[in-house]
Amino acid sequence: MQKRVLVKFSGEALAGGNGFGIDTNILKFIAGEIKELVDAGAEVGIVIGGGNIVRGVAASAGGIIKRTSGDHMGMLATVINAIAVRESLEHAGIDVRVQSAIKMEAICETFIMGRANRHLDKGRVVIFAAGTGNPFFTTDTAATLRAIEINADMIIKATKVSGVYDKDPNKFSDAVLLNHLSYEEAMKDDIKVMDDTSIALAKDNSLPIVVCDMFKSGNLRKIVVDDDTSFCSVVSNNR
Ligand code: UDP
Repeated sequence: MQKRVLVKFSGEALAGGNGFGIDTNILKFIAGEIKELVDAGAEVGIVIGGGNIVRGVAASAGGIIKRTSGDHMGMLATVINAIAVRESLEHAGIDVRVQSAIKMEAICETFIMGRANRHLDKGRVVIFAAGTGNPFFTTDTAATLRAIEINADMIIKATKVSGVYDKDPNKFSDAVLLNHLSYEEAMKDDIKVMDDTSIALAKDNSLPIVVCDMFKSGNLRKIVVDDDTSFCSVVSNNR
C-alpha cells in the first residue's frame, strides 16, 4: 500500500470537551491515529483549523476588528494548533514538519510545494499551517488546495459525526448515512460537508472527499490502509 492523503481536522476538535483551547488528550489521540497510517507506509499531510481559538467572522462581528484582521488572527490560530499537533506527533516518534503559508521563520518552515512533496516522499508528515495565507478563505479550502498540490489520493475530513446524513441525525432518529454523494449533492444548502469553494476546487480536480468520525479509533486506518469506506461518506464522481 502506498497512499498519500491529506487529513483535515477542525480546530474545534482539538478543544475536546472544553470548547476552547487545546486538550492534550485529543492531541495524544490524533497522534495515535496518524501513527497507524505512517506505520502502514502512507504519506500524510495534515491541515488543522483554528476555530478553537479565533474565527475571522466571529472576531469581526463587533465592528472593532476588521474582517481581514480577524482572518489574520484566525490564520495565526491555525499555527498555534499546528505547533501543538507537531509536538504530539514528535512525542509519538513521527518525523514531522510544519509549513506555514505565512512566513514565520523562527517557528517553522514556509510553505514551498516542492519541499513539502520531498518531505512526504521521505515519509515525513507535513502539517500545513496558516490556511491559504489569504483572508476570506477557510481551512477546508486550504486543505483541498494542499491536497491537490501534494497530489493526494483523497482528502479526509475528520469530523465529529460519522459522515453525511439525509437529514439531521440529532433531530431525526430515522436519518440515514449517505455512503456516496456527488460534488453537486455535497454543495446543497442543507448538507454543509465543507464550504462551496473547497468542494468546487475538489470537483475541478476530481479529488475524492471522505467524511468520517475522527473520534472512533481506527477509522483513518480503515479508510487509508484497508480501503474501507462503508462506515463513512465519500464525495466523488463515482458511484
Ligand atoms: N482563515 C483565513 N484564510 C484561510 C484559512 C483560514 O483567513 O485560508 C481564517 C478564518 O478567519 C477562519 C480561521 O482562519 O475562520 C480559522 O479557520 P477555520 O474557521 O477554517 O477553522 P475550523 O473551522 O476548521 O476550526
